[in-house]
Amino acid sequence: MAEKNEILRSIPKMDELLRLSVLAELNAAQASITEAARETVENFRREVLAGNITEVVSAEELAQQIVRRVKQLEQPAFRPIVNATGVSLHTNLGRACLSKRAADAVYGVVSRYTNLEYNIEEGRRGSRYDHVKNLLTKVTGAESALVVNNNASAVLLILCAMANKGEVICSRGELVEIGGAFRVPEIMQQCGCYLKEVGATNKTHLKDYVNAITENTKALLKVHTSNFKIVGFTDSVSLVDMVKLGREKGLPVIEDLGSGSLVDLEQFGIHDEPTVQNSVRAGVDVISFSGDKLLGGPQAGIIIGKKQYIDIIKRHPLNRAVRVDKMTLAALEATLRSYAEGEEQAKKEIPVLSMLGAKVEDLRAKAEYLATMIRSRGTECEVRSEEDQVGGGSVPTQLLPTFAVALSPKNCSVDGLEQRLRLRELPIVGRIHDGVYLLSVRTMEEKDFAYVAEAVSEAMNG
Ligand SMILES: *Cc1c(COP(=O)(O)O)cnc(C)c1O
Repeated sequence: MAEKNEILRSIPKMDELLRLSVLAELNAAQASITEAARETVENFRREVLAGNITEVVSAEELAQQIVRRVKQLEQPAFRPIVNATGVSLHTNLGRACLSKRAADAVYGVVSRYTNLEYNIEEGRRGSRYDHVKNLLTKVTGAESALVVNNNASAVLLILCAMANKGEVICSRGELVEIGGAFRVPEIMQQCGCYLKEVGATNKTHLKDYVNAITENTKALLKVHTSNFKIVGFTDSVSLVDMVKLGREKGLPVIEDLGSGSLVDLEQFGIHDEPTVQNSVRAGVDVISFSGDKLLGGPQAGIIIGKKQYIDIIKRHPLNRAVRVDKMTLAALEATLRSYAEGEEQAKKEIPVLSMLGAKVEDLRAKAEYLATMIRSRGTECEVRSEEDQVGGGSVPTQLLPTFAVALSPKNCSVDGLEQRLRLRELPIVGRIHDGVYLLSVRTMEEKDFAYVAEAVSEAMNG
C-alpha cells in the first residue's frame, strides 16, 4: 500500500503521457485522445483521494486505459449490431434491413445533387413523389400513390385531409394502440374528427355500420389489428361488404393496413396476413401501410388509392410537415423495383422476405455451421429446435419454427454472458430462454459467424 500523496505524485504529466508510443501512434483524432487522457487522469486522481486506489499505477497502464476510453469516445452512438434474436422486424433493432440494392441507391444519391424535385425532361420543377408513384401503382394495382414519413403520420394526414370536423366510423374491435402511444381514438381527436365506435370488442356486423351513418359521417375506417388477435367468438365485416356500403352511401372507405405485405405470406406458413393488393382489389378507397415492416424497405408511410382522394391528401398543408426525405425515396424506389421484377426477385433480394421464407432445414444447417465454429474454439454448445417471432407488431400469435445455438455457460451466469456479448464494440444481441442463452440464426449473417464464435469463446472462457 502506498501513501495517497506518493501515488498522486507518480502520475505522469499530461504531455509525457501523450508522448507514449501507444498514444502518440494511436489512429484517432487528437481531440479525442486529449479528452480521454484528461478524463482518465482526473478519474484516477479522484479514486486515489477517495481511497479506492492504493497502489502506484504505471504510465503504460494509464495509457492503456486512455486507449480504451478513446475507442469508446470515437465509437458512433448509433451503430450496427448482430441480431441473434431471430426477430426479423425487431423495432428496437431498426425493423427491416434494407436490400443491398436499396442501400446502394441511398449511397448513390446522398452526396450528390439529384433530381429530387426537378423534372429532367422538361427542365423545370418536379415532384418528389413522382419517383415512386408509378412503381407503387404498378406493384399494388392502385390508381395513385403518395409517400410520407411513416405510417402513423400517413394515418394522421389521411384523417385530417378526409374527415376533419366529421365522423369516422370504426369497429370497437379495431381501436388499436401501437407502440409509442399511437392510439386510433387519440389520433382521431388530433385530426378534429369524431370517432364513432360501433359493434362490440369481439363482433361487429354490417348493420352496426349502417345504423351509425349520419349526414356528418365522412368515412368508414378499417384498421388491421396487426399487433393483437381476438380469438373465439368473433366476427368482423369483410372489406368487400364495407366497400359496398361505402359506395351505397357515398362514403370513402379508409384502411390502415399496418404492415402491408406485397406477397402472400401463406407460402411461408404465416396465415391471415392480408396483402396490399387484396385491399386494392376489394375497392378500398385509401390504404396506408409502413415501408419498414413486411415490405422490407425504409421507414415510410405509403398511401395508395383512388386518385381523387390521393390528390386531396397531397394538397393538405400537413403533408409538408410529414414529408418523406430523399434517402427514404431512394431506398423505397430500389425496394419497389425488386417487387416490380417479380415475387421471386423480391424474395431473393429483400432481406425480410428471405429471413421469413428461410426453410427450416436450411436454418438447421446454418445453426449447425455456427455450432461447429463455436466448438472449434473449444466451447460447448448445442443446436436446438426453437421458434422465432416475426416482430414489428406483425402476426403476433404466429411463431416460425427455427434452429438456434444454445449456450449454457459454466464460468459465468447466463445474464453475465448476455452482458458480455452485448457490450462489445459490435454488440451481439441474442435471447435468454429457460436459463439458456440462444443465438437464433434466422436473423444472423454467415459473414458474422467467425466474429460471433470468437466473442462467445472469449465470453464463456474469459
Ligand atoms: C405499425 C402500425 C402503424 C404505425 O406505423 P409506423 O410506420 O410505425 O408509423 C399504424 N397502424 C398499424 C395498424 C400498425 O401496425
